[in-house]
Amino acid sequence: MRVAWTALDGGVWRLRMRLDSGEDLAGTVTDGHPVELATDTCHVRLPARAGDVGPSGAGSSGAGSSGAGTPPGEAHPDLLALAAWTVAAPWTRHRVVFDRPISAELAAAFESGWGVEAGPVGGGPPRAAGDRLAISYSGGADSAAVAAILPDAPLIHFRRVGHPRVPNRWTHYRSDVLAALANDTGRDVTIVESDLEFLLRSPRPGYPEHHAVMAGAVLLADAMDLGGVALGYEIGSRWLGGGRYVHRYTPDNPMWSGHGPWGRLFAAAGLPLVLPVGGISEAMTMRVALGSGLRDQVRWCLRGDGAGPCGRCGKCLYKELIQAAIERRPMSTAITADRPVARKWQQPPPYGGQEMIEYGCAHIPNIDDTPFARAAGYLRATPESTAWLERCYPPAVEEIPARWRGAIAAVMERDFGFMDADDVKRVESWGGR
Ligand SMILES: [Zn+2]
Repeated sequence: MRVAWTALDGGVWRLRMRLDSGEDLAGTVTDGHPVELATDTCHVRLPARAGDVGPSGAGSSGAGSSGAGTPPGEAHPDLLALAAWTVAAPWTRHRVVFDRPISAELAAAFESGWGVEAGPVGGGPPRAAGDRLAISYSGGADSAAVAAILPDAPLIHFRRVGHPRVPNRWTHYRSDVLAALANDTGRDVTIVESDLEFLLRSPRPGYPEHHAVMAGAVLLADAMDLGGVALGYEIGSRWLGGGRYVHRYTPDNPMWSGHGPWGRLFAAAGLPLVLPVGGISEAMTMRVALGSGLRDQVRWCLRGDGAGPCGRCGKCLYKELIQAAIERRPMSTAITADRPVARKWQQPPPYGGQEMIEYGCAHIPNIDDTPFARAAGYLRATPESTAWLERCYPPAVEEIPARWRGAIAAVMERDFGFMDADDVKRVESWGGR
């Protein structure tokens, strides 16, 4: 794999990938999911005067205010390599050649993490970490919870835009709505626009690696003096095999553990991954988000317009289950068990995000009248059997880099308390019966 960044006018970085012989359009994401490449070029547009956006960031960093006529500022070559790798990794077999020499330290992280020979290696020092922690902010409940826990941290929002060579058949995806909601938080918001999701021909437009959502944050890290990126991954995604994994304890999660290949690569670029809510469940992140000043800007549905979430998709159904559970109220949904989006809950477990299905079934009074009635029958969860999902898993806090750990640990202690030995055992035996 060969990759090259070109700085274009308008604050745009263009990335071009060239496959080596032996590489092809079929790739594999770190989580094992197959992906297929559609084209060889993508773009990341950084706002003008990055790092110069104040608390009223809406006006100075919005999508329309990119620096017309000016290329983006240069960044440490290790940052450019890292950002490229979040895009190119699925298709790289044995070797990656960057267009600028990287540090020996970064090359070592490629070798130890992927067995990939990365270069050319120059004589330059690795990037020194900056002082600020930015939040990779999607606007969903998990990242809003992180924003609430770190009230002074700047938010960096990735906005999908169209690709010049790939038709967009996913026009229902309202990235404009999500970006506007991010701006409405009143926080220091930087919006990065990119078409990199259209590199995927299948399964659909999306991040080549989950980490590609941070491409803009990585490219801005020098300009914004960043020493870490905080993400909204909660205990399910980090420790319980969430996302595309199903139902197993994942201490060595290759995407998000501090000691995994990605964790070490980001750290080598002076930008360690930080998971402030990695020890608490999705129900607790939703409780934090909806109890915060960001409540009106939280949006997990990608289909709804300015008026609100669509209420018809699988994600809306799942999130309504969680919200009803934390509010200890009946579930309110027009979706019935015979709808396609509810089909998987008619099957026996295991389920993705099963801990939240258990939590919902344990706490929702009318569960037998919902599309989760059958799942509830299989799972037989109770408030007691799910109480561990209201407390914080201590190893998740220990994994946070020392300089950010104290403040986050204090919030975990105050708002949730830490799991006891029995709770910890539930986490560490998850999926292992
Ligand atoms: Zn929806």
